[in-house]
Amino acid sequence: MRFKKLLVAVDFSEASRKALQAGAAMAADTGVPLVLLHVVSPPRAHAEGAMFPVGDTPAGAEAELAAWKRDAEATGARLVTTRIVAGTPWHEIVEVLRADRSFDLAIVGTHGRTGLTHVLLGSVAERVVRFAPCPVLVVRVPDY
Ligand code: AMP
Repeated sequence: MRFKKLLVAVDFSEASRKALQAGAAMAADTGVPLVLLHVVSPPRAHAEGAMFPVGDTPAGAEAELAAWKRDAEATGARLVTTRIVAGTPWHEIVEVLRADRSFDLAIVGTHGRTGLTHVLLGSVAERVVRFAPCPVLVVRVPDY
């Protein structure tokens, strides 16, 4: 199967770093466009006092995503662009894929959690697999 346009969903975690590496390698090998997408979580999440990943504000995300783009280009991917949207991560990822049907592969990370089947994939990865209009590659980071 040859893919023509790739989307990598990036939350700046180790798992999404693996997804980036997979997408960048495919884009470098085939010369197809690669879009790096980050979803900034709604402000409501900030009030809950949780720890936030780097780049959780639009300005921070832009700088961080630019650095990830350079990393992808350093591996040989030539047509790399970035996109930032706001909302609920799984929903926005699916919406971006639905809005542009030229995406024919989405790549996400996941932790290799063991235990109950329904937590085997993270909730974002699981929902993207379930609702995306195109094939999804889930890149697993094992828990040791
Ligand atoms: P999780 O289910 O939270 O473990 O996330 C699994 C994967 O979903 C991550 O490795 C990313 O590929 C993607 N993802 C999660 N949150 C976001 C986000 N805010 N923006 C873009 N991609 C995300």
